[in-house]
Amino acid sequence: MGIAENLQQLKSNLPKHITLVAVSKTKNNKAILEAYNKGHSIFGENKVQELVKKYEELPKDIHWHMIGHLQRNKVKYIAPFIHLIHAVDSVKLLKEIDKRAKQNNRIIDCLLQVHIAQEDTKFGFGLDEIEGLVKDSELYKYVNIKGMMGMASFTNNKTQIKSEFAQLKTLFDSLKNEQINILSIGMSADYELAIKKGSTMIRVGSAIFGAR
Ligand SMILES: *Cc1c(COP(=O)(O)O)cnc(C)c1O
Repeated sequence: MGIAENLQQLKSNLPKHITLVAVSKTKNNKAILEAYNKGHSIFGENKVQELVKKYEELPKDIHWHMIGHLQRNKVKYIAPFIHLIHAVDSVKLLKEIDKRAKQNNRIIDCLLQVHIAQEDTKFGFGLDEIEGLVKDSELYKYVNIKGMMGMASFTNNKTQIKSEFAQLKTLFDSLKNEQINILSIGMSADYELAIKKGSTMIRVGSAIFGAR
């Protein structure tokens, strides 16, 4: 199936409250435009250089999400336009985003990445650090903490994935308010599980654009 068909099929099965981020990393402008021309305007990228290039070349009403690990020295390149940063994983990064947002006269929406996987290769804060960070977030006037993002372990064990998502959902529910209302969990392999476990935003790449 083509990109347009994949997208249409995916969207027709999504509950209304779920925001779909189409993860377009490594895919070319033509592929992105195929989805865009079907009315989709939220795309996720995980590399700053690629993201900036696509931002410059593609329609300006696209909402770009940075979903990957973000290095502090690269925040300045995306600060003028980024719509949501999913993977804030250190206080230093938060401070840098605040500084660059201020320089651009913007308030940048961010999610705190929470480490839920059992692998220790994945970035993110511990579950126990999030409440304190949310309390301190008033310090960052140009950052809006909108919620949390997580990635489950790379495994076929559904029970494990469910329990990792459930931990994050419990934390999210305890902090949820008017501002904190995004829970970014779920990718091509596990978005259905994630939705059952309370996701509000899924990040889907290969199920739309094909294998990378
Ligand atoms: C690549 C990526 C995705 C999408 O992965 P698929 O398996 O292709 O859906 C989602 N989230 C992050 C952080 C990614 O890097």
